[in-house]
Amino acid sequence: MTDEQNKDANIAELTAKAEKLQSQKEMLLKEINKMEDAMQATVKMYARYLPPILDYIKDENKSFTASVKELSAAIKRGESIKNTERLLIHVQTDILKDVKEPTDKGVDSFSSSGDADKYHLEAIKLGYIDLVNSLKETVDSSYTSKLNQIALAIQLADSFDTITRLRDELFSLIQQYIYNVGADREKITAFVTEIVKRILQIEAGITNSYEQSSVNAQSNEEFGNLLNREIGDLKNSVDVSERLEDLKTHVSQTLASIETALKEKTAKDKAVKMMSEKSRTDFQTGFSKLKKELDQAIKHSKDLETKLNQDPLTKAYNRRAYIKRITNEMERFLRYKTIFSILVIDIDFFKKVNDTYGHAIGDKCLQEITRRTTPVLRTNDMLARYGGEEFVVIMPETSSQGAFIVAEKIRKSIEKIEFIYKTDTIRMTVSIGVSEVKDGDKSHEIVFERADTALYRAKNEGRNRVVIG
Ligand code: GH3
Ligand code: MG
Ligand code: MG
Repeated sequence: MTDEQNKDANIAELTAKAEKLQSQKEMLLKEINKMEDAMQATVKMYARYLPPILDYIKDENKSFTASVKELSAAIKRGESIKNTERLLIHVQTDILKDVKEPTDKGVDSFSSSGDADKYHLEAIKLGYIDLVNSLKETVDSSYTSKLNQIALAIQLADSFDTITRLRDELFSLIQQYIYNVGADREKITAFVTEIVKRILQIEAGITNSYEQSSVNAQSNEEFGNLLNREIGDLKNSVDVSERLEDLKTHVSQTLASIETALKEKTAKDKAVKMMSEKSRTDFQTGFSKLKKELDQAIKHSKDLETKLNQDPLTKAYNRRAYIKRITNEMERFLRYKTIFSILVIDIDFFKKVNDTYGHAIGDKCLQEITRRTTPVLRTNDMLARYGGEEFVVIMPETSSQGAFIVAEKIRKSIEKIEFIYKTDTIRMTVSIGVSEVKDGDKSHEIVFERADTALYRAKNEGRNRVVIG
């Protein structure tokens, strides 16, 4: 082989390779396109079936739970689209079985006119569901859940009447969207025109179906509102009109009256909405004002309650609070035999402290009683200033032995206090009388007297001590 021939052979080989690669590339691209299509189909399918179904399942436990579980598992497994769709249809069928309620104008009443009506109903339903899905892409997400509900209801609808009612619901939702969006007129008009056009197409299906069935006149009446009559008119004029000019005029007239109707409804609904918004704002303002007043009132009554029950100097409870609580404890004892103990605490030689160092130091000593006693007590115990330099502690469900231990802790803690006043070190001690409630005690005063007598004994026995009465 000459060099020239070699070169040619190489070129031929490379060309063949290049062609092969080219065709492989094309095949791969096709494959990718296919995959993209499949992907889009999947996404579309999920968007179409899943939200309304899931919304429906969320709050109700129906017999289709089993098929839903199956579907859920399949989705998790990444089952093929075909199988997933089969399961979706399975779920849908189960839902339909679940909600089938006999109505006057349900599927049954159409059965005389045969499968054609059912076919129409299904076609119309599909049309509406598509419309709802495209609306979901247009309107903002705050409408999604409502649109999903409508889509599901459409899917489950088994009569034209239901569809008609749902259509009205859909329409008022669109209306609501139009007021809320506040975009420029042109855009809105285009949007409304598009929606009207699509509804027109769908309605044509319904009208057709009604014409075929024997309930035409009656059902047409049920269509009710002006908008639908106009749409019906338009359909009829399309049927009867022979001259294109006539048709054009009629179509534009009808669209104009649809627009007028929409405008009127818009204005009316806007007024209603403004009214309701105003009352809502009024309500909210009124509510927050009320809430503020209520908070202030609560705080005020809490302050008042504190004032009523607290000794301002020592921050311990006052005598009033003590009487209230001890009365309660006594009642509980008399009824349920639940015991309690009390301590009566009195500062030793307090008069001398006041006389030597002045009332300010005396007051400090009194405050020290609260500071030292509170940490020793349980949450359910109560420390109160009975009067002057005398304090009392109520200890529910505590025997005198238990109370004695606590009293000793208090006594020791106070004994350790040292105030430095000028060159002097001030110390203070307390005497404590303890008593538990006993069988035969008729009133709390008796318990107190017993503790007070014990206190007197403690004083007599040398002070800075605890005595049980
Ligand atoms: P003891 O109890 O050990 O027998 O002697 P005492 O000096 O404490 O005797 P007494 O109970 O008679 O004295 C009570 C004194 O407590 C009288 C008063 O000066 C003082 N006192 C009462 N209330 C207050 C108060 O609110 N502040 C001050 N600083 N002192 C008070
Ligand atoms: Mg005293
Ligand atoms: Mg005293």
